[in-house]
Amino acid sequence: MTGDAGRPVLRFAPSPNGELHLGHALSALTGWMWAQRLGGRFLLRIEDIDTGRCREEFVRGIFDDLAWLGLSWEEPVLRQSEHFDRYRAAARRLEDEGLLYPCFATRAEIAAAARAQPGLTDPDGAPLYPGLHKGLDRGEIDERKARGEPFALRIDMEKAIARARGMSGGQDLDYTALDAAGPPARMVAEPQRWGDAVIVRKDVPTSYHLAVVVDDALQGVTHVTRGKDLEAATGLHRLLQVLLGLPAPLYHHHALITDEDGRKLSKSARDTALASLRRSGATAEEIRQRLARFLA
Ligand code: GLU
Repeated sequence: MTGDAGRPVLRFAPSPNGELHLGHALSALTGWMWAQRLGGRFLLRIEDIDTGRCREEFVRGIFDDLAWLGLSWEEPVLRQSEHFDRYRAAARRLEDEGLLYPCFATRAEIAAAARAQPGLTDPDGAPLYPGLHKGLDRGEIDERKARGEPFALRIDMEKAIARARGMSGGQDLDYTALDAAGPPARMVAEPQRWGDAVIVRKDVPTSYHLAVVVDDALQGVTHVTRGKDLEAATGLHRLLQVLLGLPAPLYHHHALITDEDGRKLSKSARDTALASLRRSGATAEEIRQRLARFLA
């Protein structure tokens, strides 16, 4: 696009697996506000890799809700489900470098093995992967693949971190975090907290983590604004960016809104869905005011 070189690029990247609620409105408005403040572009990306759970009616709901909030975005809107090939290519690159390994284990097998190491959890609170199928020999891998057994590709975290360190001159992985007030802060990325995370799922040829770093780079996103619930994921994203030779955006992780009881809002909280608020007569201005204390 002409005339856009050097302009900051911001994005809102919802997954259409439910209705947007107030938490989403906060993320969208935060990205939008930062784009205005920085004189940047604002993109919408539909993160619909989960073909089993994502639905077209939710995509339409996203467009309606955001337009109602008064936001506009550039066309065409990128839909991740149309770009599985490029996530496959990125995964292949990591695989060719020996950084991914196939894991055929079922959920039940993983859960049983994880019970033997209680207390070890990833930042989402899920049991840390207990290393099943790490180091399967080539013959067994080929046999299982030939039998058509489904498998995920997991990152060999230790090896990946060592490789990334080597690529960054032995330095710790880090990223720059921005707050509206205050100077940029250097944050240490801690991808090891995720263990041997799934990079390519069994059911679709990518994971959230892989698709998000590939697309942020492809779309030239310079500032990633998203909730603090994804802050720990940024550590893993930095690792993937280094390994794939992708640029590092700046990050702003906004506070999460809570309801009056201090509980995090979830997609199932009907009373906070933007569509029902709209139907019950709320105005976009009222939503903005309700979120004002969280907007930075
Ligand atoms: N698609 C993710 C979600 O809806 C957000 C991705 C991101 O902002 O990096 O939670």
